[in-house]
Amino acid sequence: MIIEPKQQNFFDDTGVKPPVLISTCLLGIPCRYHGRRAKKRDDLIERLQQKYVLVPVCPEQLGGMPTPRTSEYLPEDKTGADVLDNGLRLIAPETGKDVTDFHIAGGEYTLEIAQIIGAKKAYMKSGSPSCDKEGIVGEILTRGGVQVVRVG
Ligand code: SF4
Repeated sequence: MIIEPKQQNFFDDTGVKPPVLISTCLLGIPCRYHGRRAKKRDDLIERLQQKYVLVPVCPEQLGGMPTPRTSEYLPEDKTGADVLDNGLRLIAPETGKDVTDFHIAGGEYTLEIAQIIGAKKAYMKSGSPSCDKEGIVGEILTRGGVQVVRVG
């Protein structure tokens, strides 16, 4: 019998820690737009590992962007909801290219991963046009029933 991904839950037996998503750059992996490492968040990782299985995701890479890549951002008074609902586009300052669809695709794949593994919570890097709770991916996860926790 073929089991559809959304019907699977790899971590749901009693006594097994539930899975949560975490932005990969918080682990010190150099997936940021400029390709440099962020400081590894040892305290956060240790605290979360006591309760959860951590599943790293970098939505911008999942969406098809390389590392290094361009450095677009959401305007100060705008959120991911403006992109999803109101037609706001993200333009890469370095190239002038519209990269909105990469960010949206990254959000959709990230939500798909959460659904496949049964993650109900995501610890996501703040200040990113994707990962921030009010970013594009944050909004897609929230709408998909995943609680997004902003990590500064
Ligand atoms: Fe990737 Fe999110 Fe970190 Fe940006 S903030 S590098 S999209 S994991």
